[in-house]
Amino acid sequence: MSTKVLRLKNHEERRLLNGHLWIYSNEIDSKKTPLKQFQPGEQAHIETARGKLIGTAYVNPQSLICARLISRTKEQLSYQLLLRRIEQALALRNLLFKEPYYRLVYGESDLLPGLVVDRFGQHLCVQINSWGMEKVQTEIIDALTSLLQPTSIILKNDSSARTLEGLEKSVEVVTGDAPEEVELIENGVKFLAPLSRGQKTGWFYDQRNNRAELKKYVKGKRVLDVFSYIGSFGIQAATFGAKEVWLVDSSKNALAAAEKNARLNGVENSVTIGAGDAFDILHSLHDDKEMFDLIIVDPPAFIKRKKDHKNGLQAYHRINGLAMRLLTEDALLLSASCSMHLKQEELLGTLRINGQNQKRLIQILFEGMQGPDHPVHPAIAETRYLKAFLARALKL
Ligand code: SAH
Repeated sequence: MSTKVLRLKNHEERRLLNGHLWIYSNEIDSKKTPLKQFQPGEQAHIETARGKLIGTAYVNPQSLICARLISRTKEQLSYQLLLRRIEQALALRNLLFKEPYYRLVYGESDLLPGLVVDRFGQHLCVQINSWGMEKVQTEIIDALTSLLQPTSIILKNDSSARTLEGLEKSVEVVTGDAPEEVELIENGVKFLAPLSRGQKTGWFYDQRNNRAELKKYVKGKRVLDVFSYIGSFGIQAATFGAKEVWLVDSSKNALAAAEKNARLNGVENSVTIGAGDAFDILHSLHDDKEMFDLIIVDPPAFIKRKKDHKNGLQAYHRINGLAMRLLTEDALLLSASCSMHLKQEELLGTLRINGQNQKRLIQILFEGMQGPDHPVHPAIAETRYLKAFLARALKL
């Protein structure tokens, strides 16, 4: 059967010609090429209103983003194309890292829209977030197997993106025996990350460089890691020489894993665990007059959708303010946000305003973003989501 064509309305090709990969349903000339004639995940050649080929995309007629380009030619999403793209992705990671612990495939930025792969040595954690990728699941597994001969592959298909696409959520081991926990090394520090029961893919590789930045500052310090998950920032800080580290998270499972990670690195005696809501705990730490030399605030995305912006921004403002109150006279605050809808200036604004309110001089020492195993696609704003500031907050 020949590949169907999806035709754009007049002038709707501009964004695609500028490098973007997404096509919205209102950009389609639905009289000439109704979306209804496509199955979810079916491939199509995308043409301008004048019939010029833009490339090949996979289609999801039920989604607002109704098609995503996978090539600028007539080449379809196939085993061959997956193999080539994953090989290109791997070449970058091989250049960046000596050890096999990283995000191997970062969706759109690696020209594999809807696909995420995290690597934990010989164990791979795959997230398929679109119908187009779902249709080539077997080819994805085959390509990964051919390139890396992994011991295990788990499909961690439980992201909210799947709901938007109309896909079922599931977690399934498709190759080998995936362990409950996988080992990884980051910035020289060892961790065990929960796979099937972990959050997202089990580990947040995107903060690697921002965690490494702490090394310069933590020696002998008292550190508070808020929204610690399994201790990614805090246990690195302890291993880098912090005197004392407190971890705060609402997930008991995450904290149990954090305790294990503390023992794994022989820093369990300097680590204290606090389970509960971060806002409440920061209030009670203030009541108890606890103070810290460095506080890390790396919350979950408070702004998931555009319409949450106002409330989300307020939450960033509040949590950073609560943290700042606990800082000693000359202390540091690492403040991060993974909400793509929060602008970098807005996060900076929360530090500036809280600093003014609390009579602190704020000095930005470092501006961080996601690491290079999460490359930014210059035409797709959504691929640039992580922001981090390391600020010195000096009491005036
Ligand atoms: N800092 C971590 C990632 C944080 S992800 C890292 O670098 O790996 C967000 C974490 O916040 C999750 O572990 C989640 O369990 C926790 N969390 C979400 N809401 C919370 C709340 N209200 N109070 C405390 N922790 C919360």
